[in-house]
Amino acid sequence: MKERYPRLEINLAHLKHNVAKVVEKCGSCGIQVAGVIKGATGIVEVAEQFDKGGAAFIASSRLEQIEDAKNAGIQKPMMLIRIPMLSEVSQVIRLADISLNSELEVVKALNEEARKQGKLHKVIIMADMGDLREGFWDKEEMADVCEYIENQLKNIRLVGIGTNVGCYGSISPTVETLNELVEIAEHIESRLGRKLEYISGGATSSLMRVLDGNIPKRINLLRIGEGILLARDLDVFYGYDMSDMYQDVFRLKAEVIEVKNKPSHPVGTIAVDAFGHTPVYVDRGMRKRALLGVGKVDYGDPSELLPLEEGIEVLGASSDHTIIDIENAPKEWKAGDIMEFDVCYATIVYLTNCRNVNIAFV
Ligand SMILES: *Cc1c(COP(=O)(O)O)cnc(C)c1O
Repeated sequence: MKERYPRLEINLAHLKHNVAKVVEKCGSCGIQVAGVIKGATGIVEVAEQFDKGGAAFIASSRLEQIEDAKNAGIQKPMMLIRIPMLSEVSQVIRLADISLNSELEVVKALNEEARKQGKLHKVIIMADMGDLREGFWDKEEMADVCEYIENQLKNIRLVGIGTNVGCYGSISPTVETLNELVEIAEHIESRLGRKLEYISGGATSSLMRVLDGNIPKRINLLRIGEGILLARDLDVFYGYDMSDMYQDVFRLKAEVIEVKNKPSHPVGTIAVDAFGHTPVYVDRGMRKRALLGVGKVDYGDPSELLPLEEGIEVLGASSDHTIIDIENAPKEWKAGDIMEFDVCYATIVYLTNCRNVNIAFV
């Protein structure tokens, strides 16, 4: 039978290697890893590699992905990493062992639901250290809430505090920022009169502190997605050596549906493209171009496709088509040929969410 395109190939052995590497690096600093599966839409084969590679928790922002992982038989504790919606509280208690929280009202609702379901639900309370997404800005209020949970909510166990950086506000997890988080934790511990089990110091960007060997001692939990799935960001944006990790876990293959010589500047009166924008087109004369049977609906942003073969330039895309300049390609491209791309994090999120895309494990 012919293979179906577009096709996203996922190398499970390489993925498992990446999980194990990150678990090992973090482990040497006394840090547990929550393996974040949302970047690959929680595909169970992907979640299974996080499990086999040694992640302590399976984590996602989305309950349906956690449910799939549980149904696939994964026994690891499940962590919900988006602040729960009040409308999903009963599902949170049913599916997740632990969740990240920043609203007392929600934690109270979790407590009530946990009582009904006869469960003890764990929470990590989030501090906003400047990234301006989730978490308490007022750290005294945060300490008050922690004390309230500790003393008043019988079916909730406060297991730690955490933060998220580098997502909305592009804040870097510096040693100072992470030390501040530890200080907040120690202040809360002094009010509770006991130690917290976890201080969760962020996501992939916090791996930089592990690689530099300067992560504050008490940080003992990181929630890692990109740094395992692709291991590309720390290399591309910060120059870290990731050569002991595989950056080819995900690979997109798309089929050429047309090859023609065409002008590089549109002909006629320029108005707007399919998305209501007016791009600027550089006139480079007649050029050889290939058209692919894959488009923005499948992967989002064409500039995040990284061609593997020589002499290939992604010019742009519409919903269902990608336009490639092959003028300088040594290969004679023709209809039916398959073009391969490395991908970025957001591309994987789209590709794994799209039912037009054939997902294949290699
Ligand atoms: C998505 C997410 C992560 C994982 O982020 P990566 O940069 O992919 O490692 C960790 N924590 C929270 C709260 C998240 O939403």
